[in-house]
Amino acid sequence: MFAKRYQKLTPYTPGEQPRNRKYIKLNTNENPYPPSPSVAEFLHSMDITQLRLYPDPSSLRLREMIGEYNQVSPDNIFIGNGSDEVLSFCFYSFFDSNEGPLLFPEHTYSFYPVYCSYYDISFKRIPLQNDFSISFDSFLREKEYTGIIFPNPNAPTGILSSIEEINRLMDSVPKDRIVIVDEAYIDFGGISAVSLTEEYSNLLIVQTLSKSRSLAGARIGIAIGEQKLIKALNTVKDSFNSYPLDYISQRIGEIAISDQEYFQSTISKIIATREYTVRTLLKLGWEVLPSKANFIFIRNKKKSGIEIYTYLRNQGILVRHFNHPGIENFLRVSIGKEKDMELLTELLQFQ
Ligand SMILES: *Cc1c(COP(=O)(O)O)cnc(C)c1O
Repeated sequence: MFAKRYQKLTPYTPGEQPRNRKYIKLNTNENPYPPSPSVAEFLHSMDITQLRLYPDPSSLRLREMIGEYNQVSPDNIFIGNGSDEVLSFCFYSFFDSNEGPLLFPEHTYSFYPVYCSYYDISFKRIPLQNDFSISFDSFLREKEYTGIIFPNPNAPTGILSSIEEINRLMDSVPKDRIVIVDEAYIDFGGISAVSLTEEYSNLLIVQTLSKSRSLAGARIGIAIGEQKLIKALNTVKDSFNSYPLDYISQRIGEIAISDQEYFQSTISKIIATREYTVRTLLKLGWEVLPSKANFIFIRNKKKSGIEIYTYLRNQGILVRHFNHPGIENFLRVSIGKEKDMELLTELLQFQ
């Protein structure tokens, strides 16, 4: 009755979206601010009859606007239903089941091994350095691999790799192996590697409007790279679902991209709140990894990760805990509004 391929799946566990009680949600890296006010204006006045029609299968207008923002041609851009779908199409297109392995950091986005099991791709986790940063030298010491993927900044550590480091990595990786940089959090203080895609035909950048543009609910994911790579993603998309992005999401994506001023102002607020939270926790004796994302990764000598997670949950604050050896005493805490973080740091005094 059930296919064998279904029976061996191990799905990703997303951070919970509680319904029973009102929590302060610092567990899924959502943006605490609403999308651009122009998005609300559009939704209030939109022409409902448009919904009768199928949407543009290739999101051309959105690609044009994202292209303008990133100074690349729309032909170098692919749009999917959230970057999770984009990543899934990447794994399908670029990594074969009987080759391998695909390399990624030991502690990273936990969807990568899930896609590997879905498509039967072998993978190898490359250890982080003692300070939890990524060492590309360790990646380059591997002789056999078909590709490399990592988030920048990395998740859940929040640590950024510099554009110079990524440039040096690309100089050393053979041109027939794809490198994917997952830039879900790049807008919170990093420099995008999009500018390197012109020089390196094997570099693909994946981005999302979920976090920095406050549109997690609209599911807008982006890939930027050489046209051959984009063509492969389109072939996979058109073999699976021609219309990954609905009419409303395409329009509000365009609007969010064009409201640069609102974008900058919310980013600045989140960065300021992050820096305030980091300073406060350091003063309270916490270990805080240096973050350039909209979350921080923190640990306390006095209590275990699961203890603090449970304590905060009882106090009405949800954070993310990963029960993985090596990071089991850390908590990943999304940056919320200033008052949420004040309450959090208030609760995190364990003298
Ligand atoms: C949140 C996240 C994504 C997925 O974002 P969506 O566009 O909402 O699917 C991808 N990669 C990383 C590292 C993320 O944290």
